[in-house]
Amino acid sequence: MTATSAAAAAARATVYGYPRQGHHRELKKAVEGYWKGRVGAGALRETAAMLRAANWRQLADAGIDEVPTGDFSFYDHVLDTSVMVGAVPDRHRAAVEADALDGYFAMARGTQEAAPLEMTKWFDTNYHYLVPELGPDTVFAANSAKQVAELSEAVALGHTARPVLVGPVTYLLLAKPAPGVAPDFEPLTLLDRLLPVYAEVLADLRAAGAAWVQLDEPVLVQDRTAAELNAAARAYRELGALTDRPRLLVASYFDRLGESLSVLAKAPVDGLALDFTGPAAPNLDDLAAVGGLPGKRLVAGVVDGRNVWINDLAASLSRLGTLLGFADRVDVSASCSLLHVPLDTAAERDIDPQIARWLAFARQKATEVATLARGIAQGTGTIAAQLAANRADLASRSTSTLTRDPAVRARAEAVTDADTRRPEPYAERAPAQRARLRLPALPTTTIGSFPQTSELRTARADLRAGRIDTAGYEQRIAAEIQDVISFQEKTGIDVLVHGEPERNDMVQYFAEQLTGYLATRHGWVQSYGTRYVRPPILAGDISRPEPMTVRWTTYAQSLTDRPVKGMLTGPVTMLAWSFVRDDQPLADTARHVALALRDEVSDLEAAGTAVIQVDEPALRETLPLRTADRPSYLAWATEAFRLTTGGVRADTQIHTHMCYAEFGDILPAIDDLDADVISLEAARSHMQVATELADAHYPREVGPGVYDIHSPRVPGPAETATLLRTALAAIPADRLWANPDCGLKTRAWPEVRASLDHLVAAAQEVRSTL
Ligand code: GLN
Ligand code: ZN
Repeated sequence: MTATSAAAAAARATVYGYPRQGHHRELKKAVEGYWKGRVGAGALRETAAMLRAANWRQLADAGIDEVPTGDFSFYDHVLDTSVMVGAVPDRHRAAVEADALDGYFAMARGTQEAAPLEMTKWFDTNYHYLVPELGPDTVFAANSAKQVAELSEAVALGHTARPVLVGPVTYLLLAKPAPGVAPDFEPLTLLDRLLPVYAEVLADLRAAGAAWVQLDEPVLVQDRTAAELNAAARAYRELGALTDRPRLLVASYFDRLGESLSVLAKAPVDGLALDFTGPAAPNLDDLAAVGGLPGKRLVAGVVDGRNVWINDLAASLSRLGTLLGFADRVDVSASCSLLHVPLDTAAERDIDPQIARWLAFARQKATEVATLARGIAQGTGTIAAQLAANRADLASRSTSTLTRDPAVRARAEAVTDADTRRPEPYAERAPAQRARLRLPALPTTTIGSFPQTSELRTARADLRAGRIDTAGYEQRIAAEIQDVISFQEKTGIDVLVHGEPERNDMVQYFAEQLTGYLATRHGWVQSYGTRYVRPPILAGDISRPEPMTVRWTTYAQSLTDRPVKGMLTGPVTMLAWSFVRDDQPLADTARHVALALRDEVSDLEAAGTAVIQVDEPALRETLPLRTADRPSYLAWATEAFRLTTGGVRADTQIHTHMCYAEFGDILPAIDDLDADVISLEAARSHMQVATELADAHYPREVGPGVYDIHSPRVPGPAETATLLRTALAAIPADRLWANPDCGLKTRAWPEVRASLDHLVAAAQEVRSTL
C-alpha cells in the first residue's frame, strides 16, 4: 500500500467539542437553578453527566470514532483551565477552598466581596471566556480532576475518547496581569512554571486511559512575535520530550497558522489539527510548502464548525484527497469546536423544509464529518447516496429565488462610489445641521434603549402566547414611548429617543422584518455562562418589504417638539451577530443589508426625522484575526456604513455608536464612516478615546460616554462634570456631546432617572463655565 492509501484507509472521524446545553437547554436550567438554591449540587452534577453521555452517544451514533472529553463546562472552558492549573485569584481562594463548585461560580460571576474575572470575546466568535489573571507571584498547581473524571466517564461508556485542553501558550497569551500587578507584566514569562503542571495533567490523563490528548493553540493563528513563536517551539519541545505522556495533537482554528505552521510541524508532537475553511484555507498550500507532516497525524478541519451551512462534500473530498499525501494518517473533523453552532436542525419545525436542507447544525455536522471519513477510508462509492443528496441540496440553494433575487442583485451591482459618499463635506453639513437643530453647546442625548422592564417582556410573551392581540401589544408599546418621551423632556435632555421598547434585540428586530433572513426557534448558541443567544441567519438576498422603524419613530416625534433620533442597527453589526452566507463574499452580503437600511434611512428622513443614529458596536470585534486581512475588511465595512447613510440631505444629522474601550487601531476607519456625530464608550477609560480622537485630528462631533451603564452605580453630578471637563480638554465645546456609554436597556429605572438627572445637571454646569 502506498503512504497515501494507508492514510486514507485509516481515516477516522472526530470533533473537538460539542454544544453543552442539551436539546432543551437543560444545562442552563440546572446551573441557574443551582444559583437560586432550587437545584442541589448532586442534581446539577447528575444533569451534567447525563448531558455529556447524551452528547457522546449522539456523536457516536453519527459515526464519530473518537469523541472529545473535557470540552464540557459548567460555565467556560478557559475558567476550567485556570482551575486545572491552580490559577485562582487571591480574592477567590477562600471561596474555592471552602467549596470548589461555589468558588468556581464565584470566579465566574463575582460575589458581594469579590469581583468576577473579566470576560472577553473568544477570538472573533461571539463566545466569551473568563480572562485568567496572572502575576509574577502566581504559583501553578495541577488539578486534573475534571479532565480525568470526564475521560473516565466516556471510557466507561465504551467510547474512544480524546481529552481536549486549552494549550499552555494560548492560556498564557489570553491571560492578563492580575489586579495590582504591573500592567506591562507578560504572562508568557510564566511558561517554564506552567509546563510542569501540563506535564502532570498529561501523565494523569495517560494513566486514566488517554491514548491522545488535544492541546488547543488558537493564538497561533494570530500575528505572533518572534519571542512568542520561540515560546511555542519551546513549549512543544518540552511537552514532546516527556516520557510519561499520551500522544499529543496540537490544534488550531479560526485562521491560518502562517509562520506558526513550521514551528508546529517541527515540534516533537504526534499530530496537528488544522482548519482548512474560510480564512484558514491557505493552510493547505502552506502545509505543502513545509513538506507536509511526515510521521504525524493530521486532523483536517474541512467542515466549517462555526457556520450553519451544509458542507460541499465533493469539494471536501477533493481537499482531503490532496491532504492524504501530506501525513501518515489523515482524520476528518469540523474546523473548530461545534460549540459555536446550534445543536440540531431537526428542532426547527418552522423553517421551510426546502430551506432547512441547506442547514447543518452541530449534529448534522458530525454526520458530515463521519460521511467524509467513510468516503476516504472506504471509497466514495460507499457514500454515493449522501453525495447525490448533498449535490441536490447545494443546487437547490444556489438556484433558489431566496438566494438569487434579481432586483437585489441588480441594485447592488449598480451601486456607485457616489452612492457611498454624502455630497457635502462635514464642514458644510455641520452649519446646516446646527441651523436646523438649534442645540445648546454640549447637547445631551442617550444611546437608544431605555430599561426593558419585566412589563415589556411580559407583554411580548403575552403576544406570543396569544394572551393579548397585536393591538393590545402596540398599546403597551405606545404607552411606554409616551413615558420615555415625557421623562426625557422633564429631565431636560436635548435630543430624545423613543426608547426601543418594541425591540427584543437590536439585530433580531430587523432580521425579522427583512426578506432573506431566517430566524430559528431553538438555535441557541452559548454567548457566555448560562447566556445563550439565537443568532438569525442571513440566508438569501436581503430586501425590505416595508419600513421597519418609521411608525414608532414618528409616533415618538409627534409627542414632542424636541428632535427624536431615528435608531437603526448598522450593516456590519447585522452581519457580526448573525450567521452569514458562505456562498458569496461578506462584502456582498453587507451591501445587500446596507441597501435595505439605506431605504429605511431615507424613509425616516422623509418622515421628518432630523437625526438618525446607525449603531455599529460590532465594527471592531469583527476585525480579521490576521492584521494583513484588516484593511480589506475595513474598506467594505466602512463602505457599507456609508452606503446606509450616504443618501441623506446635508441638514440631516447622522450619528453612529460604538461600545468598546479601545479604539486606537481603528481610528482611521471611524473617520472613514463620515458620521456627523459618534458616541463611544469612555467612562471606564477616563475619556481616553476623546484624547485619541483629538490626537488623530478627528474633525467631527463626539460623545464620549460619561455614564458607565455596565454597572448599577449612579455617578454623581460632580463626577459626571469632571468627566465632561476631561473630554473638553480634548474636544472643543462646539463638537462635544454628553451621553451615557451605551443603551440603558439592562438598567433599572431608578438608576436611569438619577444618572440622567446628574448628566443633564453636569452638562448645564459645564456649559455655564464656557
Ligand atoms: N441603540 C442601542 C441601544 O441603546 C445600542 C446598543 C449597543 O450599542 N449594543 O440599546
Ligand atoms: Zn453600545
